[in-house]
Formats: sequence, C-alpha cells, structure tokens
Amino acid sequence: MKEQPPTGDAEGFGALGLQPSLVAAVTALGYEEPTPIQREAIPLLLEGRDLVGQAGTGTGKTAAFTLPILDRLARAGSTKTRAARALVLVPTRELAMQVAEATHKYARGSRLTVVPLYGGAPMDQQIRALSRGADIIVATPGRALDHLRRRTLDLGALEVLVLDEADEMLDMGFAEDIDAIVAATPRTRQTALFAATLAPRIAAIAGRHLRNPARVTIAREKLSTGKLPRVRQVAYLVARPHKNAALGRVLDFEGPKSAIVFCRTRIEVDELTEILRAHGYGAQALHGGMVQKQRDRVMQLFRSEKAEILVATDVAARGLDIRHVSHVINYDVPTSPEVYVHRIGRTGRIGGEGVAITLAGPREHRFLRSVEGLTRQKIEILNLPSVDDLRARRLEATREAVRAQLEAGGFEQLRGVVESLVQDFDALDVAAAAIHLVHEASEKGLPQEAIPARAASEAPVEGRQRTFGPRPSGGPRRGQSGPPRPRY
Ligand code: AMP
Repeated sequence: MKEQPPTGDAEGFGALGLQPSLVAAVTALGYEEPTPIQREAIPLLLEGRDLVGQAGTGTGKTAAFTLPILDRLARAGSTKTRAARALVLVPTRELAMQVAEATHKYARGSRLTVVPLYGGAPMDQQIRALSRGADIIVATPGRALDHLRRRTLDLGALEVLVLDEADEMLDMGFAEDIDAIVAATPRTRQTALFAATLAPRIAAIAGRHLRNPARVTIAREKLSTGKLPRVRQVAYLVARPHKNAALGRVLDFEGPKSAIVFCRTRIEVDELTEILRAHGYGAQALHGGMVQKQRDRVMQLFRSEKAEILVATDVAARGLDIRHVSHVINYDVPTSPEVYVHRIGRTGRIGGEGVAITLAGPREHRFLRSVEGLTRQKIEILNLPSVDDLRARRLEATREAVRAQLEAGGFEQLRGVVESLVQDFDALDVAAAAIHLVHEASEKGLPQEAIPARAASEAPVEGRQRTFGPRPSGGPRRGQSGPPRPRY
C-alpha cells in the first residue's frame, strides 16, 4: 500500500523556510505541523525581524524561537569561539533546564552547542562548559550577570537575544539585570521577546531593547457563542510525571463510552495507545504517519464502538466526522485557544451531553484563562477524583447495573436461591449482601495512591513517566455486565 501523504505534515515546517535538517529533527520528534505561534513567528524571525510574541507555556513557543536561532547559526556554521552567539534569558532554573534540553533536541544533527546557566549549580562546571565554547546559552538573568562580571561569559559577538517569559522575569525583579545584560550585547543583534500578556510594562521593555518589532499573538477575537457546543468543560492541574496516572484516574471515573484523547505528537499517540491497551482499554491510535488503510480501519473500529478510545493528533482528527463522542480529553493543553475550541467541538454534538477534560500542568493555568476569554465559557478546575470518589462512582454504577438487570429480567431461575435465603434472613439484607459482593469485586484494583497536582520537583522535559500504576487483574471489558472495574 502506497503511503498516503498525511493530511498535515511536519513539511509545514519546511514551508516556513526552515532548512531540511531542522524539519527532519522535528519530524523525528513526532511533530505533525507547526503550532499557531510557530507558524507566525518562525518566518518573521528567519527574516531577521525583532519580534514581540504573546504566548505562554504550552503553545510551542520554545521551538518558535529556537528553530530560527538554529537555522541562522547553522547556516554560518559553528565558530567555536568563546563568544556566545545566541542567548535565551528565562526566569527560572527549571525553565533554563527545559529550554536547554529542548534546544539540544532540535539541534541534534548540527554541531551547535548549548549550555544552560542557572543559580544553585556549581560555578566551576559552568565556567568549564563556557570555556569550551558555547553557541547558545540558556540562562537565568542573575547567573548570566554573574558570569558577565567574572568575564567568563562574552556577549560581544551575540547575534540573537531572546527574552522568554518576560512578564515573569519582570515579576521576579530582573528588570535591571536584563538591562545590564542587554548593554553587554551588540546593537546589531536580533531580539525576540515572549510574554503571556502584553501589559504596558512589557511594551516598555520591548521599547527599550527591540527595534521595530513585529507583533505576534495567539489570542484572537472572541467567538460568537452560537458556534460553541454545549459541553461541560473541566480541567485538572497535574504535574508532568503524574500525567499518565491522572489520565487513568479520569478514565476510570468517567467510564467514557467513546472518547478522543488528543496528544501533541505521533510518538505520544503511539505510546499512550500502548499503555491504555495494556490496561484493558480498547484504544486505537490515529496520526498522520499512518497509511490510509490503517486509518480507515481505526475509524471503522471507533465508529462501530468496538474501540472506545481514539488517541489522536489534531492533524489526524481534522475533518473527521465523528458524531458520537462522549468525551474529549486533552492529554496536553492544546497549542492555542482556537485548537481547544476545535477539539471540544467534537463532543456535545448530540443533545449537549459532551464532556471536555483537560490535563493542564500547574504552569498552564493561564492558558485555561485565555480559553475562557475566547469562549466566554467557564472551565471548572477540579481536584482529581480521589479513591473515595471512585468508590462512590462505582457503587452508583453497581446500583445502575442491578437496576438494568431488574428491568431486563432473565434471572427467574435464581429466585429459588433467594427464596431459600429469605427463610432465614430479611429480604432486604439478602439483596444488600448480594450487592455488597458485586461491589467488593468491582473495588479490586482500586488505586491507593494520591496523585499530587505539583510534583516535588517538576521534572524536566524528558523526565516524563511513561507507565501507569500497577495493573489490576483484568476487569470486565466493555459490553460485559456489571459495573466497570478500575484499570489503573
Ligand atoms: P512549549 O510551549 O514551548 O513549552 O512547548 C510545549 C510542548 O509542545 C513541548 O513538549 C513541545 O515538545 C511540544 N511541541 C512544540 N511544538 C510542537 C509541534 N509543532 N507539534 C507538536 N508538539 C509540539
């Protein structure tokens, strides 16, 4: 079977003007298309423009500024001088680690070197790394200034400066440090600034350090409420390492009849599908890397309700007419409020019964607010269902299952058993004992652990845990009678 051109491809990155090695790098990471901020910012940055971007965590802004930096530096080749060629300033140590790690991933295949500089880490190690020559530095302002004063950091030949999460840097009192750092760089540099909101103080810092910047924002005009489906929207704040356990908990609690779980990358789709299957879910993967025949088969399984969960990328799900989805689950926050609206439009088409659930990182709270601003609808931020909540939900399911059985009949041959028991016991007690047995069985494998909203230390990009909790001994599959059993 000939490979069909996927509906959207990382080729989209090529159309932005990036060189093929970088397009190959993002393809290898499983990206299917540029995010909105990437689509707008990358061509402008490649042109050499200064830029002010309104984009918070989760929008793909790191790649939006890193890919053009890599493109520019790789074209000139690594100079191996001690002077840095690009500097990314970020507010926190965690972000410095994350951005450096992401840059390293995108730079794979080039000879460009990346060095993170942040407080709380040994100075001599950082000095050694700098003396070996670093093309790209990712630093917190305090530590960058420290190195500048010791003359272990040379910004005299800097080509690109990025102020990432500028609003947070200002909140943390870094304004003067930033000014001092900028003063040590050449005027000819290209400068980009990213912030979640473009408040006047951001305009002021942009006015001081940027030249005729292009402006890019991902928050668009408000949507007319008529276009929005009536969907219950909830979000859970979950730290990265607990994402999989949280997804499991949510699925157990909601027991969706048919759900789409949206992921960002092909790799994520494949991994999550495997994990869900290992836990007894009928999960099918759908992404742009699959041939048409596979995609048709998956859609057939999902439409006929033989698979209750479709794990998909946005690109793959685009244009599909799927009518019966009870739950849309965002495994990650979408890359823009518009993408969010598009995703949740897949549920609630019939009778407004849909549920949209978002697993957001603790730092992605603001994204939810900007979605609310766009849709003028509330997203409820809830605590993850506790084990007690699961238990209560399960008891309810048991009750419903018994009720359905009573209505369906077909248990006449068992009346004799009950008759013999009621000779010795009260009839209500007999029924309660029977329900107790069923419920007890459904409780087996209930998770015991609490899932924190914030990890003790938020893991860096690669620190993601890829497994769910212990696997219980197989619960009933869909279509079997009885209440659902937890699968995580
Ligand atoms: P950021 O907003 O830069 O922190 O990026 C958030 C997440 O989105 C990171 O895990 C990136 O790996 C991922 N990401 C960035 N760009 C894309 C893309 N075009 N397609 C899929 N995932 C992406």
